[in-house]
Amino acid sequence: MSEPLYLAPRLESRPAALLDSPAFLHPLITALGSPLNVVLPDQLADNVRRFRDVYARHRLTGRICFAHKANRSSALVRRLAATAPATATATTTGIDVASLGELQHALGGGFTPDRIVATGPKDPDFLWLAARTGVTVAVDSPAELAALAALVERFGLPRVPVLPRLSEFTAPGTRILTRRSRFGTPAAEADTLLDLVEKHHGSVEFTGVSYHLDTMALAEKAVALEACLKVLDESRRRGLRPRAVDIGGGYGADYLADGDQWERYTTELTRALLGRREPITWEGHGYGLRGENGTLRGALGVYPGHRPVAGPRYLDELLTQTAPSLARPLATLLLENLYDLHTEPGRALVDQCGITLARVVEVRETAAGEPLVRLAANARDVGLEDHGLLVDPVLVPREPRGEGPPVGVYLLGNLCLESDLISRRTVFLPSAPRPGDLLAFANTAGYFMDFTADHALHQPIARKVAVYRDGDGGPWAWCLDEQYWPHLNAGDDQ
Ligand SMILES: *Cc1c(COP(=O)(O)O)cnc(C)c1O
Repeated sequence: MSEPLYLAPRLESRPAALLDSPAFLHPLITALGSPLNVVLPDQLADNVRRFRDVYARHRLTGRICFAHKANRSSALVRRLAATAPATATATTTGIDVASLGELQHALGGGFTPDRIVATGPKDPDFLWLAARTGVTVAVDSPAELAALAALVERFGLPRVPVLPRLSEFTAPGTRILTRRSRFGTPAAEADTLLDLVEKHHGSVEFTGVSYHLDTMALAEKAVALEACLKVLDESRRRGLRPRAVDIGGGYGADYLADGDQWERYTTELTRALLGRREPITWEGHGYGLRGENGTLRGALGVYPGHRPVAGPRYLDELLTQTAPSLARPLATLLLENLYDLHTEPGRALVDQCGITLARVVEVRETAAGEPLVRLAANARDVGLEDHGLLVDPVLVPREPRGEGPPVGVYLLGNLCLESDLISRRTVFLPSAPRPGDLLAFANTAGYFMDFTADHALHQPIARKVAVYRDGDGGPWAWCLDEQYWPHLNAGDDQ
Protein backbone atom coordinates (compact mmCIF):
# COMPACT_ATOMS: atom_id res chain seq x y z
CA MET A 1 0.00 0.00 0.00
CA SER A 2 1.15 3.55 -0.72
CA GLU A 3 1.56 6.19 2.00
CA PRO A 4 -1.64 6.53 4.01
CA LEU A 5 -3.61 9.71 3.29
CA TYR A 6 -5.22 10.47 6.60
CA LEU A 7 -7.99 13.00 7.19
CA ALA A 8 -7.96 12.98 10.97
CA PRO A 9 -10.99 14.53 12.67
CA ARG A 10 -10.52 17.60 14.85
CA LEU A 11 -11.36 16.49 18.37
CA GLU A 12 -11.67 18.75 21.37
CA SER A 13 -10.82 17.36 24.78
CA ARG A 14 -14.29 16.12 25.77
CA PRO A 15 -15.00 13.96 22.69
CA ALA A 16 -11.33 12.92 22.57
CA ALA A 17 -11.52 11.68 26.17
CA LEU A 18 -14.71 9.79 25.39
CA LEU A 19 -13.15 8.05 22.38
CA ASP A 20 -10.27 7.13 24.62
CA SER A 21 -12.66 5.18 26.85
CA PRO A 22 -13.25 1.87 25.04
CA ALA A 23 -14.25 0.16 28.28
CA PHE A 24 -17.17 2.60 28.52
CA LEU A 25 -18.15 2.57 24.83
CA HIS A 26 -18.11 -1.16 24.07
CA PRO A 27 -20.68 -2.18 26.72
CA LEU A 28 -22.92 0.65 25.48
CA ILE A 29 -22.98 -0.79 21.99
CA THR A 30 -23.48 -4.28 23.38
CA ALA A 31 -26.50 -3.06 25.33
CA LEU A 32 -28.03 -0.68 22.82
CA GLY A 33 -26.92 -1.99 19.44
CA SER A 34 -25.16 -0.56 16.44
CA PRO A 35 -25.28 2.13 15.18
CA LEU A 36 -25.43 4.27 18.29
CA ASN A 37 -25.52 8.06 18.47
CA VAL A 38 -23.89 9.73 21.44
CA VAL A 39 -24.54 13.36 22.32
CA LEU A 40 -22.52 15.48 24.75
CA PRO A 41 -24.89 18.11 26.20
CA ASP A 42 -22.19 19.91 28.19
CA GLN A 43 -20.21 20.60 25.04
CA LEU A 44 -23.18 22.58 23.78
CA ALA A 45 -23.00 24.79 26.88
CA ASP A 46 -19.29 25.37 26.15
CA ASN A 47 -20.10 26.35 22.57
CA VAL A 48 -22.74 28.81 23.78
CA ARG A 49 -20.10 30.42 25.97
CA ARG A 50 -17.80 30.92 22.99
CA PHE A 51 -20.54 32.60 20.97
CA ARG A 52 -21.36 34.79 23.98
CA ASP A 53 -17.71 35.83 24.17
CA VAL A 54 -17.91 37.14 20.61
CA TYR A 55 -20.97 39.19 21.46
CA ALA A 56 -19.17 40.59 24.50
CA ARG A 57 -16.05 41.44 22.48
CA HIS A 58 -18.19 43.60 20.20
CA ARG A 59 -20.19 44.94 23.17
CA LEU A 60 -23.36 43.54 21.65
CA THR A 61 -26.20 41.69 23.31
CA GLY A 62 -29.03 39.67 21.88
CA ARG A 63 -29.98 36.05 21.47
CA ILE A 64 -28.14 32.94 20.30
CA CYS A 65 -30.78 30.59 18.91
CA PHE A 66 -29.91 26.99 18.14
CA ALA A 67 -31.31 25.94 14.74
CA HIS A 68 -33.07 22.80 15.94
CA LYS A 69 -33.12 21.09 12.55
CA ALA A 70 -29.41 20.19 12.88
CA ASN A 71 -30.26 17.52 15.47
CA ARG A 72 -33.41 15.96 16.93
CA SER A 73 -31.91 15.27 20.36
CA SER A 74 -33.96 16.08 23.45
CA ALA A 75 -30.90 16.18 25.68
CA LEU A 76 -29.28 18.91 23.61
CA VAL A 77 -32.46 21.00 23.58
CA ARG A 78 -32.97 20.64 27.35
CA ARG A 79 -29.33 21.39 28.12
CA LEU A 80 -29.57 24.51 25.99
CA ALA A 81 -32.76 25.54 27.79
CA ALA A 82 -30.71 25.51 31.01
CA THR A 83 -28.27 28.11 29.65
CA ALA A 84 -30.50 31.15 30.21
CA PRO A 85 -28.59 33.98 31.87
CA ALA A 86 -29.70 35.28 35.25
CA THR A 87 -29.79 38.92 34.16
CA ALA A 88 -32.06 40.33 31.51
CA THR A 89 -29.26 42.45 30.04
CA ALA A 90 -26.96 39.59 29.06
CA THR A 91 -27.04 37.73 25.77
CA THR A 92 -29.59 35.01 26.12
CA THR A 93 -30.10 31.70 24.36
CA GLY A 94 -33.04 30.43 22.41
CA ILE A 95 -34.11 28.01 19.75
CA ASP A 96 -35.10 28.31 16.11
CA VAL A 97 -37.88 25.89 15.19
CA ALA A 98 -38.96 25.11 11.65
CA SER A 99 -41.90 22.76 12.13
CA LEU A 100 -44.84 22.09 14.42
CA GLY A 101 -42.99 19.12 15.90
CA GLU A 102 -39.88 21.16 16.63
CA LEU A 103 -41.98 23.87 18.30
CA GLN A 104 -43.69 21.29 20.53
CA HIS A 105 -40.33 19.75 21.32
CA ALA A 106 -38.81 23.10 22.28
CA LEU A 107 -41.75 24.03 24.52
CA GLY A 108 -41.60 20.59 26.15
CA GLY A 109 -37.84 20.88 26.66
CA GLY A 110 -38.11 23.98 28.81
CA PHE A 111 -38.03 26.91 26.40
CA THR A 112 -40.47 29.66 27.22
CA PRO A 113 -42.06 31.32 24.14
CA ASP A 114 -39.95 34.48 24.51
CA ARG A 115 -36.89 32.31 23.69
CA ILE A 116 -38.33 30.67 20.58
CA VAL A 117 -38.35 31.87 17.00
CA ALA A 118 -40.41 30.07 14.35
CA THR A 119 -38.76 30.12 10.91
CA GLY A 120 -39.40 28.69 7.46
CA PRO A 121 -42.74 28.59 5.63
CA LYS A 122 -45.43 27.55 8.10
CA ASP A 123 -48.51 25.42 7.71
CA PRO A 124 -51.67 26.54 9.54
CA ASP A 125 -51.16 24.20 12.54
CA PHE A 126 -47.63 25.43 13.13
CA LEU A 127 -48.71 29.04 12.71
CA TRP A 128 -51.60 28.60 15.14
CA LEU A 129 -49.46 27.11 17.91
CA ALA A 130 -46.81 29.77 17.33
CA ALA A 131 -49.44 32.51 17.59
CA ARG A 132 -51.20 30.94 20.57
CA THR A 133 -48.00 30.53 22.58
CA GLY A 134 -46.67 33.93 21.46
CA VAL A 135 -43.29 32.86 20.07
CA THR A 136 -41.52 35.24 17.70
CA VAL A 137 -42.50 34.49 14.11
CA ALA A 138 -39.95 35.05 11.35
CA VAL A 139 -42.73 35.54 8.81
CA ASP A 140 -41.68 34.13 5.47
CA SER A 141 -43.90 36.15 3.13
CA PRO A 142 -46.55 38.89 3.07
CA ALA A 143 -49.19 36.16 2.73
CA GLU A 144 -47.95 34.48 5.89
CA LEU A 145 -48.02 37.79 7.75
CA ALA A 146 -51.65 38.28 6.70
CA ALA A 147 -52.51 34.71 7.73
CA LEU A 148 -50.89 35.24 11.13
CA ALA A 149 -52.76 38.51 11.67
CA ALA A 150 -56.01 36.78 10.75
CA LEU A 151 -55.39 34.04 13.34
CA VAL A 152 -54.62 36.58 16.05
CA GLU A 153 -57.84 38.47 15.30
CA ARG A 154 -59.99 35.39 15.00
CA PHE A 155 -58.83 33.89 18.30
CA GLY A 156 -58.46 37.18 20.15
CA LEU A 157 -54.77 36.53 20.88
CA PRO A 158 -52.19 38.99 22.20
CA ARG A 159 -50.02 40.69 19.57
CA VAL A 160 -47.43 38.31 18.15
CA PRO A 161 -43.82 39.50 17.76
CA VAL A 162 -42.66 39.23 14.15
CA LEU A 163 -39.22 39.35 12.53
CA PRO A 164 -40.00 39.18 8.80
CA ARG A 165 -37.42 37.26 6.82
CA LEU A 166 -35.83 39.05 3.88
CA SER A 167 -33.84 37.58 1.00
CA GLU A 168 -32.21 38.47 -2.33
CA PHE A 169 -30.27 41.52 -1.27
CA THR A 170 -28.28 43.85 -3.49
CA ALA A 171 -25.70 46.41 -2.44
CA PRO A 172 -25.77 49.70 -4.31
CA GLY A 173 -22.55 50.34 -6.20
CA THR A 174 -21.24 46.80 -5.83
CA ARG A 175 -21.68 43.73 -7.91
CA ILE A 176 -22.35 41.47 -4.95
CA LEU A 177 -25.80 39.99 -5.19
CA THR A 178 -26.99 37.41 -2.73
CA ARG A 179 -28.28 34.23 -4.27
CA ARG A 180 -31.90 33.49 -5.01
CA SER A 181 -33.82 31.83 -2.24
CA ARG A 182 -37.03 29.87 -1.85
CA PHE A 183 -37.48 31.59 1.48
CA GLY A 184 -38.20 35.08 2.69
CA THR A 185 -39.47 38.22 0.98
CA PRO A 186 -37.12 39.85 -1.56
CA ALA A 187 -35.55 42.91 0.05
CA ALA A 188 -36.81 45.00 -2.87
CA GLU A 189 -40.34 44.33 -1.60
CA ALA A 190 -39.61 45.40 1.98
CA ASP A 191 -41.88 48.44 1.62
CA THR A 192 -44.90 46.28 0.88
CA LEU A 193 -44.07 44.23 3.93
CA LEU A 194 -43.82 47.32 6.14
CA ASP A 195 -47.17 48.56 4.78
CA LEU A 196 -48.67 45.27 5.85
CA VAL A 197 -47.02 45.42 9.29
CA GLU A 198 -48.57 48.89 9.77
CA LYS A 199 -51.95 47.72 8.58
CA HIS A 200 -51.95 44.83 11.07
CA HIS A 201 -50.25 46.62 13.94
CA GLY A 202 -53.03 45.60 16.30
CA SER A 203 -52.16 41.93 15.72
CA VAL A 204 -48.43 41.82 15.12
CA GLU A 205 -45.57 43.61 16.80
CA PHE A 206 -42.73 44.43 14.43
CA THR A 207 -39.52 43.66 16.35
CA GLY A 208 -37.04 43.71 13.46
CA VAL A 209 -36.06 41.74 10.37
CA SER A 210 -34.19 38.51 9.74
CA TYR A 211 -32.31 36.65 7.07
CA HIS A 212 -30.62 33.29 6.71
CA LEU A 213 -28.27 32.71 3.80
CA ASP A 214 -27.05 29.25 3.01
CA THR A 215 -23.57 30.40 2.07
CA MET A 216 -20.15 30.76 3.62
CA ALA A 217 -19.35 34.00 1.77
CA LEU A 218 -18.76 36.77 4.31
CA ALA A 219 -19.19 39.50 1.70
CA GLU A 220 -22.69 38.27 0.84
CA LYS A 221 -23.67 38.26 4.48
CA ALA A 222 -22.28 41.75 4.98
CA VAL A 223 -24.49 42.96 2.10
CA ALA A 224 -27.52 41.28 3.67
CA LEU A 225 -26.89 42.67 7.14
CA GLU A 226 -26.42 46.19 5.85
CA ALA A 227 -29.59 45.93 3.78
CA CYS A 228 -31.48 44.83 6.90
CA LEU A 229 -30.18 47.85 8.80
CA LYS A 230 -31.52 50.10 6.03
CA VAL A 231 -34.93 48.47 6.20
CA LEU A 232 -34.94 49.07 9.96
CA ASP A 233 -34.08 52.74 9.33
CA GLU A 234 -37.04 53.01 7.01
CA SER A 235 -39.28 51.30 9.56
CA ARG A 236 -38.26 53.88 12.16
CA ARG A 237 -39.09 56.70 9.77
CA ARG A 238 -42.54 55.20 9.69
CA GLY A 239 -42.76 55.28 13.47
CA LEU A 240 -42.16 51.57 14.06
CA ARG A 241 -39.81 50.56 16.87
CA PRO A 242 -37.54 47.72 15.77
CA ARG A 243 -35.19 46.21 18.33
CA ALA A 244 -33.31 43.40 16.61
CA VAL A 245 -31.68 42.00 13.51
CA ASP A 246 -31.62 38.24 13.15
CA ILE A 247 -28.74 37.17 10.93
CA GLY A 248 -29.57 33.46 10.77
CA GLY A 249 -27.02 30.65 10.76
CA GLY A 250 -24.31 29.35 8.49
CA TYR A 251 -21.19 29.77 10.66
CA GLY A 252 -19.84 26.36 9.74
CA ALA A 253 -17.53 24.01 11.59
CA ASP A 254 -13.92 22.96 11.25
CA TYR A 255 -13.93 19.19 10.93
CA LEU A 256 -10.29 18.34 10.29
CA ALA A 257 -7.37 18.41 12.68
CA ASP A 258 -4.73 19.20 10.11
CA GLY A 259 -4.90 21.55 7.12
CA ASP A 260 -1.84 19.92 5.51
CA GLN A 261 -3.62 16.57 5.42
CA TRP A 262 -6.50 18.23 3.61
CA GLU A 263 -4.19 19.84 1.04
CA ARG A 264 -2.34 16.60 0.47
CA TYR A 265 -5.57 14.64 0.16
CA THR A 266 -7.15 16.90 -2.45
CA THR A 267 -3.90 16.99 -4.45
CA GLU A 268 -3.65 13.20 -4.44
CA LEU A 269 -7.33 12.88 -5.36
CA THR A 270 -6.81 14.95 -8.50
CA ARG A 271 -3.67 12.97 -9.35
CA ALA A 272 -5.60 9.74 -8.97
CA LEU A 273 -8.43 10.99 -11.19
CA LEU A 274 -5.88 11.94 -13.84
CA GLY A 275 -4.42 8.44 -13.65
CA ARG A 276 -1.14 9.64 -12.20
CA ARG A 277 -1.36 7.40 -9.17
CA GLU A 278 -3.44 4.38 -8.09
CA PRO A 279 -7.12 5.16 -7.41
CA ILE A 280 -8.19 6.29 -3.94
CA THR A 281 -11.93 6.21 -4.59
CA TRP A 282 -14.47 3.50 -5.38
CA GLU A 283 -14.78 3.02 -9.16
CA GLY A 284 -12.94 6.26 -9.76
CA HIS A 285 -15.61 8.38 -8.03
CA GLY A 286 -14.42 12.00 -8.21
CA TYR A 287 -16.71 14.01 -5.88
CA GLY A 288 -17.67 16.22 -8.83
CA LEU A 289 -14.28 16.04 -10.54
CA ARG A 290 -13.30 13.79 -13.41
CA GLY A 291 -10.24 13.31 -15.54
CA GLU A 292 -10.70 13.52 -19.30
CA ASN A 293 -7.69 12.83 -21.51
CA GLY A 294 -5.30 14.15 -18.95
CA THR A 295 -7.38 17.25 -18.04
CA LEU A 296 -9.41 17.72 -14.90
CA ARG A 297 -13.06 18.71 -15.44
CA GLY A 298 -15.92 19.62 -13.11
CA ALA A 299 -15.66 21.11 -9.63
CA LEU A 300 -14.89 19.45 -6.33
CA GLY A 301 -18.26 19.27 -4.58
CA VAL A 302 -17.25 18.56 -1.00
CA TYR A 303 -17.54 20.40 2.30
CA PRO A 304 -14.38 22.39 3.00
CA GLY A 305 -13.37 20.04 5.80
CA HIS A 306 -10.56 22.23 7.01
CA ARG A 307 -12.10 25.57 7.90
CA PRO A 308 -10.20 27.42 10.59
CA VAL A 309 -12.52 30.45 10.41
CA ALA A 310 -15.71 28.72 11.52
CA GLY A 311 -18.27 28.96 14.29
CA PRO A 312 -17.73 31.84 16.74
CA ARG A 313 -14.65 33.00 14.80
CA TYR A 314 -16.74 33.32 11.68
CA LEU A 315 -19.27 35.47 13.55
CA ASP A 316 -16.41 37.59 14.83
CA GLU A 317 -15.13 38.11 11.28
CA LEU A 318 -18.57 38.99 10.01
CA LEU A 319 -19.11 41.61 12.69
CA THR A 320 -15.73 43.11 11.90
CA GLN A 321 -16.58 43.46 8.18
CA THR A 322 -17.08 46.94 6.85
CA ALA A 323 -20.63 47.61 5.67
CA PRO A 324 -20.39 47.88 1.86
CA SER A 325 -22.03 51.30 1.45
CA LEU A 326 -22.21 52.72 4.99
CA ALA A 327 -18.45 52.07 5.21
CA ARG A 328 -18.36 51.32 8.96
CA PRO A 329 -17.90 48.01 10.79
CA LEU A 330 -21.17 46.11 11.01
CA ALA A 331 -20.79 45.65 14.79
CA THR A 332 -20.47 49.41 15.22
CA LEU A 333 -23.64 50.05 13.24
CA LEU A 334 -25.55 47.55 15.38
CA LEU A 335 -24.19 49.06 18.56
CA GLU A 336 -24.94 52.66 17.61
CA ASN A 337 -28.54 51.77 16.85
CA LEU A 338 -28.81 49.73 20.06
CA TYR A 339 -30.10 46.77 18.10
CA ASP A 340 -30.02 43.30 19.58
CA LEU A 341 -28.16 40.78 17.48
CA HIS A 342 -29.92 37.46 17.01
CA THR A 343 -28.01 34.53 15.57
CA GLU A 344 -29.26 31.06 14.63
CA PRO A 345 -26.26 28.73 14.49
CA GLY A 346 -27.12 25.09 13.78
CA ARG A 347 -24.02 23.17 12.82
CA ALA A 348 -21.69 25.50 14.71
CA LEU A 349 -23.55 25.27 18.01
CA VAL A 350 -23.41 21.46 18.05
CA ASP A 351 -19.79 21.32 16.92
CA GLN A 352 -18.04 18.50 18.85
CA CYS A 353 -21.37 17.58 20.50
CA GLY A 354 -21.91 14.15 19.01
CA ILE A 355 -20.33 10.91 17.87
CA THR A 356 -21.82 8.06 15.84
CA LEU A 357 -20.55 4.59 16.72
CA ALA A 358 -20.77 1.59 14.42
CA ARG A 359 -19.64 -1.97 14.98
CA VAL A 360 -17.37 -3.72 12.47
CA VAL A 361 -19.17 -6.84 11.23
CA GLU A 362 -16.86 -8.21 8.58
CA VAL A 363 -13.49 -7.51 7.02
CA ARG A 364 -12.69 -9.04 3.62
CA GLU A 365 -11.11 -8.33 0.26
CA THR A 366 -12.57 -7.95 -3.22
CA ALA A 367 -11.22 -10.17 -5.98
CA ALA A 368 -9.01 -7.23 -6.91
CA GLY A 369 -7.60 -7.20 -3.40
CA GLU A 370 -9.39 -4.08 -2.13
CA PRO A 371 -10.10 -4.41 1.59
CA LEU A 372 -13.75 -3.97 2.54
CA VAL A 373 -15.05 -3.29 6.01
CA ARG A 374 -18.74 -3.91 6.53
CA LEU A 375 -20.37 -2.02 9.37
CA ALA A 376 -23.59 -2.48 11.31
CA ALA A 377 -24.76 0.93 10.08
CA ASN A 378 -25.52 2.41 6.69
CA ALA A 379 -24.95 5.54 4.68
CA ARG A 380 -28.17 7.06 6.04
CA ASP A 381 -27.06 6.60 9.62
CA VAL A 382 -23.75 8.31 8.98
CA GLY A 383 -24.55 11.00 6.44
CA LEU A 384 -20.97 12.13 5.88
CA GLU A 385 -20.63 10.90 2.31
CA ASP A 386 -23.99 12.32 1.34
CA HIS A 387 -22.91 15.77 2.51
CA GLY A 388 -19.46 15.47 0.96
CA LEU A 389 -17.66 15.60 4.29
CA LEU A 390 -14.41 13.68 4.01
CA VAL A 391 -13.13 12.77 7.45
CA ASP A 392 -11.76 9.54 8.92
CA PRO A 393 -13.50 7.54 11.63
CA VAL A 394 -11.57 6.67 14.78
CA LEU A 395 -10.89 3.00 15.45
CA VAL A 396 -11.94 1.88 18.93
CA PRO A 397 -10.62 -1.70 19.24
CA ARG A 398 -12.53 -4.24 21.28
CA GLU A 399 -9.39 -5.29 23.08
CA PRO A 400 -6.20 -3.31 23.48
CA ARG A 401 -3.62 -4.26 20.88
CA GLY A 402 -0.55 -2.73 19.29
CA GLU A 403 -1.03 -0.26 16.50
CA GLY A 404 -0.29 -0.89 12.84
CA PRO A 405 0.32 -1.51 10.11
CA PRO A 406 -1.91 1.11 8.40
CA VAL A 407 -4.56 -0.02 5.89
CA GLY A 408 -6.72 1.65 3.27
CA VAL A 409 -10.30 0.33 3.27
CA TYR A 410 -13.75 0.99 1.86
CA LEU A 411 -16.55 1.19 4.41
CA LEU A 412 -19.70 -0.68 3.43
CA GLY A 413 -23.14 -0.28 4.98
CA ASN A 414 -25.71 -2.87 6.02
CA LEU A 415 -28.20 -2.35 3.21
CA CYS A 416 -28.46 -4.81 0.32
CA LEU A 417 -27.73 -1.98 -2.10
CA GLU A 418 -24.70 -1.54 -4.28
CA SER A 419 -24.76 2.15 -3.48
CA ASP A 420 -24.68 1.74 0.31
CA LEU A 421 -21.11 2.80 0.84
CA ILE A 422 -20.35 4.76 3.98
CA SER A 423 -17.23 5.93 2.18
CA ARG A 424 -16.69 6.03 -1.54
CA ARG A 425 -13.08 6.88 -0.89
CA THR A 426 -10.33 4.74 0.52
CA VAL A 427 -10.30 5.44 4.24
CA PHE A 428 -6.89 4.99 5.80
CA LEU A 429 -6.76 3.64 9.32
CA PRO A 430 -3.68 3.27 11.52
CA SER A 431 -4.45 -0.46 12.03
CA ALA A 432 -6.66 -3.02 10.33
CA PRO A 433 -10.09 -3.16 11.99
CA ARG A 434 -11.39 -6.52 13.20
CA PRO A 435 -14.95 -7.74 13.69
CA GLY A 436 -16.23 -6.47 17.03
CA ASP A 437 -14.17 -3.28 16.90
CA LEU A 438 -15.98 0.04 16.72
CA LEU A 439 -15.53 2.81 14.23
CA ALA A 440 -16.41 6.16 15.74
CA PHE A 441 -17.48 8.94 13.41
CA ALA A 442 -16.62 12.16 15.17
CA ASN A 443 -18.57 15.39 15.17
CA THR A 444 -21.79 14.09 13.66
CA ALA A 445 -24.25 16.08 15.79
CA GLY A 446 -24.79 18.74 13.12
CA TYR A 447 -26.89 17.14 10.36
CA PHE A 448 -24.97 13.83 10.10
CA MET A 449 -26.64 11.95 12.92
CA ASP A 450 -30.38 11.73 12.46
CA PHE A 451 -31.27 13.92 9.51
CA THR A 452 -31.53 11.09 6.98
CA ALA A 453 -31.79 7.92 9.12
CA ASP A 454 -34.72 5.65 8.28
CA HIS A 455 -35.93 2.06 8.54
CA ALA A 456 -34.91 0.79 5.09
CA LEU A 457 -34.75 -3.03 5.13
CA HIS A 458 -36.08 -2.95 8.71
CA GLN A 459 -32.60 -2.07 9.86
CA PRO A 460 -32.72 -0.39 13.26
CA ILE A 461 -32.36 3.37 13.52
CA ALA A 462 -29.59 4.33 15.88
CA ARG A 463 -30.57 4.85 19.48
CA LYS A 464 -29.34 8.05 21.00
CA VAL A 465 -27.71 8.43 24.38
CA ALA A 466 -26.58 11.46 26.32
CA VAL A 467 -23.15 11.13 27.90
CA TYR A 468 -21.89 13.35 30.68
CA ARG A 469 -19.62 13.34 33.68
CA ASP A 470 -19.84 14.85 37.13
CA GLY A 471 -17.17 17.47 37.40
CA ASP A 472 -14.23 17.49 35.03
CA GLY A 473 -12.51 14.22 35.72
CA GLY A 474 -15.42 12.17 37.05
CA PRO A 475 -16.44 8.88 35.46
CA TRP A 476 -18.61 8.95 32.35
CA ALA A 477 -22.30 8.41 32.86
CA TRP A 478 -25.00 7.89 30.26
CA CYS A 479 -28.73 7.76 29.82
CA LEU A 480 -31.11 7.49 26.89
CA ASP A 481 -31.41 10.84 25.16
CA GLU A 482 -35.04 11.25 26.17
CA GLN A 483 -34.20 10.53 29.84
CA TYR A 484 -31.67 13.35 30.09
CA TRP A 485 -32.62 16.43 32.09
CA PRO A 486 -30.11 19.10 33.03
CA HIS A 487 -30.49 18.59 36.79
CA LEU A 488 -28.63 15.29 36.35
CA ASN A 489 -25.30 17.04 36.12
CA ALA A 490 -25.31 20.61 34.86
CA GLY A 491 -24.09 23.06 37.46
CA ASP A 492 -25.51 26.55 37.79
CA ASP A 493 -23.50 27.61 34.75
CA GLN A 494 -25.23 29.49 32.03
C1 LIG B 1 -30.85 25.74 8.74
C2 LIG B 1 -31.08 27.08 9.28
C3 LIG B 1 -30.16 27.64 10.19
C4 LIG B 1 -28.90 26.95 10.61
O1 LIG B 1 -27.94 26.84 9.61
P1 LIG B 1 -26.48 26.26 9.96
O2 LIG B 1 -25.79 26.28 8.67
O3 LIG B 1 -26.67 24.92 10.52
O4 LIG B 1 -25.87 27.20 10.95
C5 LIG B 1 -30.47 28.87 10.74
N1 LIG B 1 -31.61 29.56 10.38
C6 LIG B 1 -32.48 29.06 9.50
C7 LIG B 1 -33.69 29.85 9.16
C8 LIG B 1 -32.26 27.80 8.92
O5 LIG B 1 -33.13 27.32 8.04
